[in-house]
Amino acid sequence: MKSNSQQVKVFLRCRPPLKRELSSGQYRSVVSCNVERPNSVNIRVERDGQTFIKTFDFDGVFNQTANQLDVYKRVAVHSIEEMLKGYDCTIFAYGQTGTGKTYTMEGRPSRETKWDVNSDAGLIPRVCQHLFEELENIDSEYSVQISYVELYNEKLRDLLSPHYSELKLLNDSKGNVIIEGVEEVVVHSNENVYDCLDGCWKRKTASTKMNENSSRSHTVFTITTHVKSRNSGEEDILITGKLHLVDLAGSENIGRSGATNMRAQEAGKINKSLLTLGRVITALVEKTGRVPYRDSLLTRILQNSLGGKAKTNIIATISPAHINLEETLSTCIYASRAKFIENQPEVNQTLTKKALIKEYTMIIERLRKDLYTTRSKNGIYLSEERYEEIMGQLAQKDHESSTLSISVSSLQEKCDELTNANSSLRTELRETLKELKQGNKRNEELSEKLLASQKELNVSNIKINEKEYIITVQEETERKLREETKALRNIMDLLKNDQQIVYSACEELANHHRKQIAVIRRVEDCLYRNASSLLL
Ligand code: ADP
Ligand code: MG
Repeated sequence: MKSNSQQVKVFLRCRPPLKRELSSGQYRSVVSCNVERPNSVNIRVERDGQTFIKTFDFDGVFNQTANQLDVYKRVAVHSIEEMLKGYDCTIFAYGQTGTGKTYTMEGRPSRETKWDVNSDAGLIPRVCQHLFEELENIDSEYSVQISYVELYNEKLRDLLSPHYSELKLLNDSKGNVIIEGVEEVVVHSNENVYDCLDGCWKRKTASTKMNENSSRSHTVFTITTHVKSRNSGEEDILITGKLHLVDLAGSENIGRSGATNMRAQEAGKINKSLLTLGRVITALVEKTGRVPYRDSLLTRILQNSLGGKAKTNIIATISPAHINLEETLSTCIYASRAKFIENQPEVNQTLTKKALIKEYTMIIERLRKDLYTTRSKNGIYLSEERYEEIMGQLAQKDHESSTLSISVSSLQEKCDELTNANSSLRTELRETLKELKQGNKRNEELSEKLLASQKELNVSNIKINEKEYIITVQEETERKLREETKALRNIMDLLKNDQQIVYSACEELANHHRKQIAVIRRVEDCLYRNASSLLL
């Protein structure tokens, strides 16, 4: 995020059920606000016989009991301060038809409206009354201008012009988008504002009743302030600020896939400006390169408010009724995406009084020439100089337009190539996914086998450990046996020696014995002989 980046602030407002909804006998609410999380909303989704809760977070949530003053204080009150500091500010109302966009922006205004007293008056009448109250309190010269335009079917009309004339957009020398010829009415008081708006509101209501345009049209109410600021010693400067209050067409006009990549021709009757607004938001949120501001009048007018130098707030409006569930969900999704748009708010360039007078003098001079020519030459309504200037611009536009058509067709070709490449990639992807699935199955089987082998291995390991233990014990026993054998051998050797001695002793004894026996025999012989002689 850049240092002065500021995300667009998004608020959600849920209107109370309408009398006709309650009396239909079929009313069920699917929206509830979370007491512990005051900036969240819970939507009860019922699909395929299942019910679940989807929660969305915003910068603020206004439930059914919130009144017009609550909304003004939270969303718009700071815009007055910012505008007087020299910022451009924008407040959008976005949502399905019948959810309270116009109620929030205009409400039921009256000349008695006070910004800090609750009533049915919406943001526009409160901002106007509050602004004049603030300006009267500051000790500076100021001027206030208002303009009010309606965009219907890609045609821009001036709601403040008595002829309800059609307008064109132009880029000025600094690249800013300006609405050529729009009535910027200078107003000196809140009363003046009502003098201008009364007629216009009546006209708008009448046209709405006649052709039901209001759900398909966008209105942009703009207040411009110039405040003189003392510049110590130097020339006084003028601080310029703007506040746009935008009541968008009903979001159902965007079509189901409006926020995605529907082509213009397919979009058919879908509101081009609303569709482009969705694309601009997508490009800004996803940071995908070119932002298609130039594709619709609305996004050209609001270029500075989305991704530009303005401070922007969005109020997304929803209905609590279950019959609007799908639109409510898509509004919440759209609005929660818009939170990620980053603007770089910057104070407008200040003008010195001299520079402003010079600018006005040039405009007056041009108008004076046009007027003179109109009066003097029948049928020509412009000075030759101005005519040449316009013809030059037209030729340049023609040239730009043919260059653009060439690039459009080459882009179309590239787009077709990409679509083809995309579809073959999709086929490859499908194939790869199939293979991946099969691979996964094989993997699962192998995993099972691996598991079984591991079990066997574990058993074998246990056995090996047991055997190793037995071998160690046997080796130890063997070692002990070897030592004992050695000791026994030593004892045996000793015993052998002893035996030898015993043998020798026995031999001697035997010899001695034999000798004795021989003596005894001889004695016996003698005795025998003696006895025999005696007997004889
Ligand atoms: P949208 O401009 O979105 O089509 P509206 O502003 O015309 O919707 O509102 C439709 C109806 O609901 C109107 O009758 C309006 O007075 C009523 N309404 C909308 N929001 C509220 C609210 N917060 N409180 C009371 N009534 C409301
Ligand atoms: Mg409306």
